[in-house]
Amino acid sequence: MTHHEKNSEHSAETFRSQFPLFAQPENRNLVYLDNAATTQRPAMVIDAVADFYRHSNANTHRSSHRLARQATEMVEQTRQRAAAFLNARSSREIVFCRGATEALNLLAYSLCAGLEPGDEIVLSTIEHHANLVPWQMMAERYHLQLRYVPHTAGVPQFDRLDEMLGNRTRIVSLTGGSNALGLRPDLAAIAEKLRGRHLHWVVDGSQLAAHEVVDVQALGCDFFVCSAHKFYGPTGVGLLYGREALLQAMPPWQGGGEMIAEVGLLHSVYADLPHKFEAGTSPLAGLAGLGAAFDFLAQQDRGAMAAHEQALLQWLHRELSQLPHLRLLSQPQHNLGIVAFAPVDAAPADLALWLDGRDIAVRVGHHCAQPLIRASGEGATVRASVAGYTTWQDCEAFLEAVRDFQRVTEPVDSAAAAAAAAGDDWLADDLSALRLERLASQRNWQDRYRELMRWSKSITTKPGIRSAQNLVQGCESEAWLVHRQQEGRHYFAVDSDSRVVRGLAALLLSQIDGRTGSQIAAADFDRLFADLGLRQHLSQSRSNGFYALLRQALQFVESAQ
Ligand code: PMP
Repeated sequence: MTHHEKNSEHSAETFRSQFPLFAQPENRNLVYLDNAATTQRPAMVIDAVADFYRHSNANTHRSSHRLARQATEMVEQTRQRAAAFLNARSSREIVFCRGATEALNLLAYSLCAGLEPGDEIVLSTIEHHANLVPWQMMAERYHLQLRYVPHTAGVPQFDRLDEMLGNRTRIVSLTGGSNALGLRPDLAAIAEKLRGRHLHWVVDGSQLAAHEVVDVQALGCDFFVCSAHKFYGPTGVGLLYGREALLQAMPPWQGGGEMIAEVGLLHSVYADLPHKFEAGTSPLAGLAGLGAAFDFLAQQDRGAMAAHEQALLQWLHRELSQLPHLRLLSQPQHNLGIVAFAPVDAAPADLALWLDGRDIAVRVGHHCAQPLIRASGEGATVRASVAGYTTWQDCEAFLEAVRDFQRVTEPVDSAAAAAAAAGDDWLADDLSALRLERLASQRNWQDRYRELMRWSKSITTKPGIRSAQNLVQGCESEAWLVHRQQEGRHYFAVDSDSRVVRGLAALLLSQIDGRTGSQIAAADFDRLFADLGLRQHLSQSRSNGFYALLRQALQFVESAQ
């Protein structure tokens, strides 16, 4: 069965037509696969934000006039819809905040204040930094112990969660879906393990809320957090659900206006729930947009939408798993909508740059999950993430681009690599075949990129120089540079895990290797970089890679004079 034969009741095209960004001329060819970072906004949400400012802007609560009443009503209505969205028992259980990050900070701050030294918090290695760092900060302040669910190469074995639960466990804060791998834990199984224990269970539902209908009562968690911008709502607003009795017992996390009932000079009486946790002016336009996002989602067949996303995901995994020189880190099962992988013969950033050249938006890096990525043995991964508007054509364009990338970055000469590994750590690279005119004459970015890849092959792998001492600072990927001077001329050897940086290094060395100090000083690298048409296409950090190498090389030359 080919992907074209597959049919789901969810039409990505119809869904997509509600998102003005895709209709803009400059975005006509955009393939947006960075939905785990943030989704696009439908017209309903954009209009609600604009309408708030256009028609009814006023602050809530504090003023007694028509617009203020209207704004207050809008906020409380949005709260009721939020309660319905998560199936909370009442809107008193919904606290608005800036996003999942703020919600998790609030929870860490308020819950840990009531703990005793030595009490334990259970986390997992797959958590977003937002669900790690706040707990680390409070563990330090209150002398608490952090425990981690057992894992294999960073992937938690949630079925072994009970091994970490003891009579000092007070908080278990776990993801409802990983933003790095898409992995969705079996939350019902986790609930089962936690039932009847004297602890609080926090679910980081940031990724979950975009892909599944959430029912906090059925889930049985004590707290649930998510950010609106991950489910087609505005940035700057998020939800914290908490059981009413628990929220009631927790101290507020920020002080200020709105969160008080009465203020004296030495003490204040706090407002009732949920306002106790909402100090200061709320992001009102964002809340108007959030209300519209709930309406928008309520109009969708969420089951069909999820089925569509899952079908795309299965296909992406199947196709990518057949490609050589590529390590797939995510799995198609129990996955909310993410495919994560790393090219074997190039840096993930090289692939992202290639995809960007075709206007395909993916994310590369550690995805705010450094412990996981580190444990996986990679420095970074490429992440493509789907949403309701992702089409089969989007995925096809993405896969085709990855296949093309593999053609462009065919494995480097293993004989040369082996020679280098054998011990000659200098191994002067032969750059004589490189022709600047060839690079300059390429018509478009894809061709220039190809040429740069060809250049990269002339820079051999040099394990002998890959040390902390030779590491070049300020380069996005790792790069190493060494220098020696002989008879008044300067010689360099360079290496990098990035093919693009190696290509750029070849370009640099073609201009400085074997030259005298005055020849090097006279060279105009800015001009060269611009003339070759490289500046406009290379991201800031990539071109910084070139400049980082250049800076280091010039420093060597200077200190050798
Ligand atoms: N947790 C997870 C799993 C996430 O994916 C994110 C956002 N990438 C966050 C927490 C933090 O969300 P925000 O930046 O919206 O506060």
